[in-house]
Amino acid sequence: MTVMGDFADRVFFGTVLTMDDSMPEAEGVAVHGERILAVGGRTELARLIGPDTAVTELGDAALLPGFVEAHGHPLSEAIFLGPDVVDIRPVVAPSADAVMERLHAAIEAAGADGVYANGWDPLLQTGLPEPTMGWLNGLSPERPLAILHNSGHSAFFNSAAARAVGVTRDTPDPVGASFGRDASGELDGSLREVGAAEMIFGPALQPTPNGFIDAIRAESARLNAAGITTAGELGYNPGTAAGIAAARVAGALTVRLRLYEMSTAAKQSAGRPGDGDELVRQVGIKLWADGSPWVGNIATSFPYLDTPATRSLGLKPGHRGHANYTPEQIAEISEAYFAAGWQLACHVHGDAAVDTVLDAWEALLQRHPRPDHRLRLEHVGAMSAAQFERAAALGITASIFIDHLYYWGDVLVDDLFGPEHGAPWAAAGSAAASGMRISFHNDGQVTPPEPLRNIEIAVTRRSNRGRVLAPEQRISVEQALRAQSINSAEQLFSEHEIGSITPGKFADLVVLGRSPLVAGAGTDVAAGAIADIPVLETILAGVTVHRATRSD
Ligand SMILES: [Zn+2]
Repeated sequence: MTVMGDFADRVFFGTVLTMDDSMPEAEGVAVHGERILAVGGRTELARLIGPDTAVTELGDAALLPGFVEAHGHPLSEAIFLGPDVVDIRPVVAPSADAVMERLHAAIEAAGADGVYANGWDPLLQTGLPEPTMGWLNGLSPERPLAILHNSGHSAFFNSAAARAVGVTRDTPDPVGASFGRDASGELDGSLREVGAAEMIFGPALQPTPNGFIDAIRAESARLNAAGITTAGELGYNPGTAAGIAAARVAGALTVRLRLYEMSTAAKQSAGRPGDGDELVRQVGIKLWADGSPWVGNIATSFPYLDTPATRSLGLKPGHRGHANYTPEQIAEISEAYFAAGWQLACHVHGDAAVDTVLDAWEALLQRHPRPDHRLRLEHVGAMSAAQFERAAALGITASIFIDHLYYWGDVLVDDLFGPEHGAPWAAAGSAAASGMRISFHNDGQVTPPEPLRNIEIAVTRRSNRGRVLAPEQRISVEQALRAQSINSAEQLFSEHEIGSITPGKFADLVVLGRSPLVAGAGTDVAAGAIADIPVLETILAGVTVHRATRSD
């Protein structure tokens, strides 16, 4: 047992899962100030209990390190789940009818600013109409109407929304993004990828300074309620720095942020790796290779199926997506930022795109050897076992979007890729077998922040309709817990301060209603056994930032 300082402010006794290999389970934890003072047995810790020490007997509950979201978008989620955006995500509007009800109501109530909505997904909300510009103009003839696809990788907008931001047929496509155009070159009301989406949505959704603080407070609360104490922000725009600083001063930011600035055509950042402190720190650069499986623009070696679903996405029979960036562009962007000392995190889903990125990064590491580079691949839906092995040998890790299996598991197999390529989606088992230390994530507003769901899905690979996908890709509860804590901390260059219950690290903790190890014991985990464990309390640097109410 390690001890630093005098009496503890708070001591927990009961089930403690530390995620620290030197002592994976302990009987208790002592906290002093913002740090973990000691971890160990009851008798040792009893000596740290003074007259003012609060003692918590966990009983059936369990104490774990606060969850770490390796790849989120808390800054955009703060806006997109805020009051200025109509929420039509499949998690709140599961059917096409529910989507249209929400849109009609919003258009009815809208003022001159129009309606900006988020969460369109015809694969889950089956029967949605084709969102052509004509259809959008019919719904809202005079005022802006723009709808972001749930993946964030495409959007639809009417003429007034284009007019409001000065986008016309002559507007050039941003790098890696595009506006849809008809045969005569006129805008067709669709767009692909972040660069173009920012042009349509950005100015309309610019919050006031106070609005931004409120949005960050609400977002922090959402993350804390899920047990999250640190989140990667994989779409950081330096323009939000002043807003983040103000939110912090106001006490609204109760989650640590690890920022990945979006790569741009300029291929340089005004910041430096490591800028910031323990609460908000800039660690890396985000780049993209391809897009979203739900839109049809991921680069795979195999075609999409020809189904009513793929046709509804506008995909032709035998459709194969392609990357948004050329191999040369990926190599150039990687080189520019990596040579400047940055960690890189690349969005990549299709196996063909994974090859492109691995080729680029293998050459990059030869030109710029760096022992602790921590290059990251993001989402990796169709990454193969051989590719995981190749990446692991290069010291590259992956953050896996395991929650895809829960919401889109049936869509992956039946509608998009068939059993051969759909079932092994998000192949955490292959990744673990390669020796890679993987993480999980919910990708901002794409799925809700739900680390316990991620853990359950990695263990069961069961979709929300009960289908099990490629059970050989299951991993253990222990492995899944690490993916949501210490492994994520490592990817965020933060394992020296967070990610495990270790003396000297920050007292970032979560109290769960019961231990996921107990809930997940045995070979067949009941649906909800882990996902539905209540988050009783979340603690950031020794301070309680979330406490469950009775109704939770
Ligand atoms: Zn993302």
